[in-house]
Amino acid sequence: MNTLVINCGSSSVKYALFDAHESVLLQGKRERLSANEGKSHQDALNELFKELEAFDISAIGHRVVHGGDAFRAPTPIDVDVISAIERWCPAAPMHNPYALMAIQDAQSRFPDLPNVAVFDTAFHARMPRRASTYAIDHDVAQKHDIRRFGFHGISHEYAAGVAAGFLQRPLDSLRLVTLHLGNGASACAVEYGRSAETSMGNTPLEGLVMGTRSGDVDAGVLLGLCQSGGYSIEELNTLLNRNSGLKGLSGISNDLRDIEEAAAQGHDRAQLAINVFAHRARKYVGAYAAAMGGIDAIVFTGGIGENSASMRERILQRLEFLGVQLDLDRNRRSQIAKDEEYAVISEPHSRVDVIVVKTNEERMIARETQRVVGTETPSDVPSIPIAVSARHCHLTQETFEKLFGAGAEPTMDKPLVQPGQFACKERVNLIGPRNRIDGVRVLGPLRSVDQVEVARTDEFRLGVDAPVRDSGKVSGSAPITLEGPAGTVKLKEGLICARRHIHMHPDDATQFGVNDKDEVSVSILDGERSLIFGDVLVRVKDSYVLEMHIDTDEANAAELGRGASGGLSVNDIDSDGGVKQLGKGAYQKKEKTV
Ligand code: AMP
Repeated sequence: MNTLVINCGSSSVKYALFDAHESVLLQGKRERLSANEGKSHQDALNELFKELEAFDISAIGHRVVHGGDAFRAPTPIDVDVISAIERWCPAAPMHNPYALMAIQDAQSRFPDLPNVAVFDTAFHARMPRRASTYAIDHDVAQKHDIRRFGFHGISHEYAAGVAAGFLQRPLDSLRLVTLHLGNGASACAVEYGRSAETSMGNTPLEGLVMGTRSGDVDAGVLLGLCQSGGYSIEELNTLLNRNSGLKGLSGISNDLRDIEEAAAQGHDRAQLAINVFAHRARKYVGAYAAAMGGIDAIVFTGGIGENSASMRERILQRLEFLGVQLDLDRNRRSQIAKDEEYAVISEPHSRVDVIVVKTNEERMIARETQRVVGTETPSDVPSIPIAVSARHCHLTQETFEKLFGAGAEPTMDKPLVQPGQFACKERVNLIGPRNRIDGVRVLGPLRSVDQVEVARTDEFRLGVDAPVRDSGKVSGSAPITLEGPAGTVKLKEGLICARRHIHMHPDDATQFGVNDKDEVSVSILDGERSLIFGDVLVRVKDSYVLEMHIDTDEANAAELGRGASGGLSVNDIDSDGGVKQLGKGAYQKKEKTV
């Protein structure tokens, strides 16, 4: 299987064709592309596809800069993905339109091949809210999707992975600052394998100094330029995106090589441009070390990060206090060998390693594309709603009457999703050896066996040790005393920690390819605390509606809120121990469940 990767930048098209073993069959780059003069992106694509005529291709992976927060993983391209990419064009005007051009061109030339979008935003999509939120009016932010998305995620993730390989430590045990310094530039705090902070924000304009982009600017400056400088929106856009950064500062070029040459000859603005660039990057390294509470390594990548030893040295100046000790000789000779992915430029005893990684977004995109095409799931497989069950009890007629009085009947408060089931207005108190928990809901209708379901945390509070059980299997479970307005009942058994389970209609079971009593795994893909729940029991009945039931401890462990609607992957552990993905989706996070 040969995978073609197309990576459209603002003024370049990079491409590579990989075989199934990630060996490169063909690779190329067209630069200095412009819509107005010289060669355009479309000319570059025409040349690329001409070159490819001699090769077999089985899938195409596209780098897409902006996917908003909807895409948290590489995704097969369909009409919805195309309209999402279109939707984010205004926020990434120098990138998304070219990615779309390449996608549509590829689709029309190879209508039968799968196309996969690999998003720069995906790696950052699970940034903590404290990092992704701007301190502006909450309602305005909600209305206009104003949050920090972050970009260059493919490169940051790849560089972090290579650094972890060198350090021979799992990525999820490391705190790294990755610096992608090229014509576009960004920093990322990779905390235990996840992007915890990154310098590009709602658009690729925020953060570090770039080739032609300004990075951070006081928003008040922009107001001033509009109000008293007479600037139009278009002029502001040109100023910030095309005439700022290294180009605007130096007045020479957006290419650091030209600026370094001029600076060496005493050009004042070139020297200033270099100093501003380095100072800004150093500031972010320090901030991210503080945000993560320390760092294990700093990783440089991108055209400048990989090639400019003097810029790296300048950025790392005064970072000794963090434990960074640069080896000046290694830094200067750091040219990464042709077949190598990285070079180490710190002193051997430096507490913080400094590593230069040859960026290889194309390899990463090919890897992701092959993975997606190899494991593609049918898009009509539904996601699974999750119901978070707070502690509750099911009672017999006899127990109910002892607690609420002779002849008492349960009164419905609200219906539950499963047909015929309802939450009652009646509540009971649980009395354990250590503590009591008051106001526990009774669920209806009444049953033939008493069953009280609590979470592990409740057990600690009550001072009991209840077993994990399937619903209905209470024989030999823990004792508990129930207190109601009319009396108390000492249950010899009946207290359980309910086993997590999924209710399914037979049609759902067919769609997921599972049977009654199967054990499956359910993975939460999104959110701040992704989690795979193993040992989930499938319960199939004509009367059931698709819904997974977990308790409050389990919901909190995955940061799922009460009433969160399902968005899960169901994984069936197959006989070889592999995991077969059956469904996918995204859940809506609500407030924490307690
Ligand atoms: P990228 O966008 O990652 O391709 O990086 C492009 C930028 O890398 C160029 O604009 C140059 O400023 C910079 N660059 C590439 N090679 C060198 C070099 N040998 N020395 C300094 N800067 C370089």
